[in-house]
Amino acid sequence: MEANDKIKVIKGIGEKTEKLFYKLGIETVQDLLEHYPRGYEEFERPVMISSIAEGATMAIEASITMTPKIKRIRNLQIVSVQVKDASGVMNLTWFNMPFLQKTLHSGYHYIFRGKVIRKNGVLVMEQPGIYERENYYKLLKIMQPIYPLTQGVTNTMISKSIKQVLSEIDLAKDYIPKPVAKEYQLMDRTKAIKEVHFPKDRDSMMKARQRLVFDEFFLYSLALRKLKAKKTVSLSEYRMTVCEECEELIQSLPYSLTGAQLRVWQEIRQDLQSEYVMNRLIQGDVGSGKTVLAILALIMAVKNGCQACFMVPTEVLAKQHYRSLEDIARQFGFSISLLVGSMTAKEKREAYERIKSHKTDIIIGTHALIQEKVEYDRLGLVITDEQHRFGVKQREALMNKGGNPHVLVMSATPIPRTLAIILYGDLDISIVDELPAQRLPIKNCVVDTNYRPKAYRFIAKQVEEGRQSYVICPMVEESEEVEAENVMEYTQRLQEELPTGISVEYLHGKMKPKDKNEVMERFAEGEIQVLVSTTVVEVGVNVPNATVMMVENAERFGLAQLHQLRGRVGRGKHQSYCIFVCGSSSKDAWERLEILNKSNDGFFIASEDLKLRGPGDIFGIRQSGDMDFKLGDIYNDASILKVAAEAVKSLKDEEVDGIFEKNPYLEEHILNRNSNTL
Ligand code: ADP
Ligand code: MG
Repeated sequence: MEANDKIKVIKGIGEKTEKLFYKLGIETVQDLLEHYPRGYEEFERPVMISSIAEGATMAIEASITMTPKIKRIRNLQIVSVQVKDASGVMNLTWFNMPFLQKTLHSGYHYIFRGKVIRKNGVLVMEQPGIYERENYYKLLKIMQPIYPLTQGVTNTMISKSIKQVLSEIDLAKDYIPKPVAKEYQLMDRTKAIKEVHFPKDRDSMMKARQRLVFDEFFLYSLALRKLKAKKTVSLSEYRMTVCEECEELIQSLPYSLTGAQLRVWQEIRQDLQSEYVMNRLIQGDVGSGKTVLAILALIMAVKNGCQACFMVPTEVLAKQHYRSLEDIARQFGFSISLLVGSMTAKEKREAYERIKSHKTDIIIGTHALIQEKVEYDRLGLVITDEQHRFGVKQREALMNKGGNPHVLVMSATPIPRTLAIILYGDLDISIVDELPAQRLPIKNCVVDTNYRPKAYRFIAKQVEEGRQSYVICPMVEESEEVEAENVMEYTQRLQEELPTGISVEYLHGKMKPKDKNEVMERFAEGEIQVLVSTTVVEVGVNVPNATVMMVENAERFGLAQLHQLRGRVGRGKHQSYCIFVCGSSSKDAWERLEILNKSNDGFFIASEDLKLRGPGDIFGIRQSGDMDFKLGDIYNDASILKVAAEAVKSLKDEEVDGIFEKNPYLEEHILNRNSNTL
């Protein structure tokens, strides 16, 4: 068995299972090995019945006091039995396991392990596992991996497959140079992979994880170094001069730029005028006003005779930027085009023609901008918004379309400067660290589901005052289809709850791009007052008249993602509100959401999130795809990141080349794996 074999080579994985595994992003044996547990199940020592606590999963050692009873409620069969130990008695129940009535007998002694809940005022254990004493004590020492799953794929299927692979595969050679491994006392790679799936104990698992995180960061830094080597500082083909139109635009804005915006604009302007090609990252919290900086740069490029591109991750966003540029284009006499996937073949052809003949100056679009058929003329500036949504390959493809265009990337991911320098090694960094002054801070609240009617009344009142509202629907894991249904159902219910005359519509990922755009446009125009949506509105959307963001099941989202969602409101002059509905009674969930309640500052949230997760919570809640490594967490593992980057830096060029030569697949592997982060 080889690492890049398709998973079909594994016993028990046929065509059907293979497809299910694909859904988890597992195509090759290597992918399977990198499908790391999201945590471990560890059995607890049994406790006395008198000390069980509500809400926890616990084990008790007890004898059955009676013949089990069976009850039918609608189509449920419930078996219940009483057990006792020296300290007391309690009831256990099982659903749809009628056979237990025959196998559990009065007087039998077992260890029962399950979740303790309160029912009709008393504590019961629901659906407990039943273990012989001896077996349980064997399991007590084992950390059993819990994997991310999808419908049709069980935890056992994954752990069995991984066990098989581990017994048959000769794991890839260790690509980390021996001296580096020694200096940082890294666990052997093969051992680390085994240990992270089936750890001997917690210590060993932590060491294994550390090694694998080191690997991720090491390879990442290695890839960056390679990229950088290719991209030696280049002389600019498009050296620009300052144009007065930019100044005019700044004067004509309905607001004045913040100090931070002015400073960053100054940095961009200097780059464009210098003799070298610009490679700059603009980092700024949601709502800090990055778009206008992009627009200024676009104008400067156009006025210097260049074409310029503005690439964004979604069509909705492309349309939005297009609309906000229309007036400006008219005002300053240049032409803009939209290029997105959902355009008809004819529309696209016409756009290609306009681009090639330089009849259009600025092109705004999605991935469609890098299609082979697009030919640019004097492409002097490439801007990507929400940069973390694009991979290095896409950015490179766009750059390769021009001679050697200036590059500006924009991101709202809050990363401390020291880490940003490592992660974006090849870019200069500007930070927009100031929100527009006259903006009213968003008012937040975290509430339970009982608050819903009140929230709806509040939304109705805001609408009455002319404002608009988003409602983010509970996330559903199963599939996009279920999610879509969910959104539609919710919309209908909400429509019934709200006074007539309020227009409520929905938006979800399964809709055709055209329909999505239309809904978004009507929301932007104020024709729709309440938009029920999945997280598709998460990035970049700007409707300043929207003042309420209500998030259902907020506990299921990462804090960074919630912060992005919140960033959709508080963009105009009206007071905005964010209502986080917490569907869980767990203390942790509330504590986490409380962080958002306390602050509107992305950096603060990222760092608090980190503290709360703490070093013990090794596979904590994932951020929302920003800078996502499989195991590594740029915040929590910042120290490993720094060390790994240091290690790469200390290598000689020959050593770097050597690593790639000895491992011919490595380069491709790194690029694929980090396509969203590099
Ligand atoms: P982001 O940084 O999240 O991309 P945007 O560029 O979309 O933010 O800006 C958010 C909103 O703030 C927009 O409506 C924009 O017109 C407005 N805005 C930008 N800069 C300022 C400013 N200096 N003063 C007031 N409003 C501003
Ligand atoms: Mg934006």
